[in-house]
Amino acid sequence: MYCFTCKKQFYVKRNFLSLFETKKYYICDSCRKKYPIQLHYEEIPLENYSLYIVSIFRMTYKLCFESYSKEISYIVLFLLKRHKACFFIFQEHLHLTDYFIEFLSLLADAEKKDILFVCCEVKK
Ligand SMILES: [Zn+2]
Repeated sequence: MYCFTCKKQFYVKRNFLSLFETKKYYICDSCRKKYPIQLHYEEIPLENYSLYIVSIFRMTYKLCFESYSKEISYIVLFLLKRHKACFFIFQEHLHLTDYFIEFLSLLADAEKKDILFVCCEVKK
């Protein structure tokens, strides 16, 4: 297989039971240990509604987020099931400024819902 982050080739160990599986992996074990997924949950009150921010990585890494596409899709599906009533937004990077929070407050008022913002990393 080919690691999207370090661009090196890696091999997945197989045993007798998984010999004919065709699972694809996009990140090698060393990159997975180097850039671990650490979910961070934050709630910011807006004027009338709430903003829930879920960041998948605690730090800003220089990695290709597509290498974690499978894990990110599981996390997003889980969060969508838990927060069905929220307005959902996903972005790779979130630059959280006062203007952006004000914009999200206007969006929440227009949609009349809380906002669930899922991102890979947050910059403040
Ligand atoms: Zn790698």
